[in-house]
Amino acid sequence: MLFPKLRQPDGTEALRFGARALDYQELAGVAAAIAELVAGRQRIAVWATNELETCAAVIGGLSAGVAVVPINPKVGERELAHILTDSRPELLLAAPGFRAPDGLGDIPVHEIDLTASGGELPPEADEDAPALIVYTSGTTGPPKGVVLPRRALSANLDALAEAWEWTGADVLAHALPLFHVHGLILGTLGPVRLGGSVHHLGKFSSAAIAEELAGPATMMFGVPTMYHRLAEDAERDPRIGEAVGKARLLVSGSAALPAVEHERIERLTGQRVVERYGMSETIMNCGVRADGDRRPGYVGRPFAGVELKLVDERGAEIEVSDDETVGEILVRGSNLFSGYLNRPDATAAAFTDGWFRTGDVATRAPDGYIRIVGRKATDIIKSGGYKIGAGEIENCLLEHPAVAEVAVTGEPDADLGERIIAWIVRAPGQEVTDQELADHVARLLTPHKRPRVVRYLEALPRNEMGKVQKKALQHG
Ligand code: ATP
Ligand code: MG
Repeated sequence: MLFPKLRQPDGTEALRFGARALDYQELAGVAAAIAELVAGRQRIAVWATNELETCAAVIGGLSAGVAVVPINPKVGERELAHILTDSRPELLLAAPGFRAPDGLGDIPVHEIDLTASGGELPPEADEDAPALIVYTSGTTGPPKGVVLPRRALSANLDALAEAWEWTGADVLAHALPLFHVHGLILGTLGPVRLGGSVHHLGKFSSAAIAEELAGPATMMFGVPTMYHRLAEDAERDPRIGEAVGKARLLVSGSAALPAVEHERIERLTGQRVVERYGMSETIMNCGVRADGDRRPGYVGRPFAGVELKLVDERGAEIEVSDDETVGEILVRGSNLFSGYLNRPDATAAAFTDGWFRTGDVATRAPDGYIRIVGRKATDIIKSGGYKIGAGEIENCLLEHPAVAEVAVTGEPDADLGERIIAWIVRAPGQEVTDQELADHVARLLTPHKRPRVVRYLEALPRNEMGKVQKKALQHG
């Protein structure tokens, strides 16, 4: 059963967005009304704005056993048309005030009414039935629909709850988007499965997060850009650091949290952030436990129900690796998706012998701790006969006082194969030369890891999750 507390609801607050909230009794009523509305359909879409209605719509759809396709409300016309043609939802649920965008076609739209209350919730759907179809961001081609069965959600959320001592007593401070695994599955379905509460801030601000963590909220799920902003603001205003210090648990994921940032947050708040690693196709693979060693730069060990191995380019398993021996991460377990919708080719290509190839490369310490090096496609630079991880150079450059943000990429080079490019956002009021930055890397790492070209930008291209879009840097 995905949401036991909706079957025996009480007056505990489930979801709060500013002044608006639903307790479990109210949420069970709206979920039942939505379940009645969508009953008998196979698939519905939800226009996933950061609003209470989105959460209710997804929970209602899941309660009816219908597969839910959450849609990023900033999606462009062509991508929206692709998602709708690919997933063929029979209905789109949206918050009141929804304005039909281009690309919507003739799909019927229903505005969600939070005061509606249905009768009994329908019986629980089969564990293997699809729960969510989450579209990838489409960095490498048209977005693919990742079909996540109900079993993957419940198994993985229970594993996270165990690892993070996460219970119905927790109140989660949340500011992530709701169309993505992080904000939707972990940040919304997680607390509701556990019978706890979510305080969604609509959008991120350090002041609002600090107020929550000093008040009712016990934990925060965030992306590295949020922790970066929290640290920046805490440098200016010690009250922010003090408030954040009151949290029970801070969790980071969706992109790498640089070790220097981890240490800065600890200095400013006294909190050591717990990092975890996952993706749409697998939900969460590994992470640091609440009672585990919160080692900067590491994402801990596999969660319960997840098997993980590293393999070299020939597919041979790497048991333990030193910092230079990286392997691709392969995973299998109850957390996995069942395939890409309508893409048997892509599904088959993503698996070897039942193991899912993540496309991410990592090292594994003797105690099993995983360190993500980056993506095989964009973060491993082959230069001068060496295989160089972009992340190591990025972390090193971040330690330079003139560097506020950085991304490292490779570019074709007649001599070296690829040359290392550093894309730098300078810290305010700081001057630095290319040579100084190259020397800094050559001194701290090794000379062949120094950037050959430095390019300065006002800001790095990032998506809504704060992930740097390296393909956009490489292709102008
Ligand atoms: P697409 O698959 O459409 O190209 P995407 O891979 O960015 O987009 P997601 O599934 O949201 O879409 O992101 C998963 C990826 O995010 C992982 O494969 C990994 O590269 C990265 N990631 C997630 N957590 C971490 C982490 N803690 N450290 C480093 N990278 C991470
Ligand atoms: Mg991916």
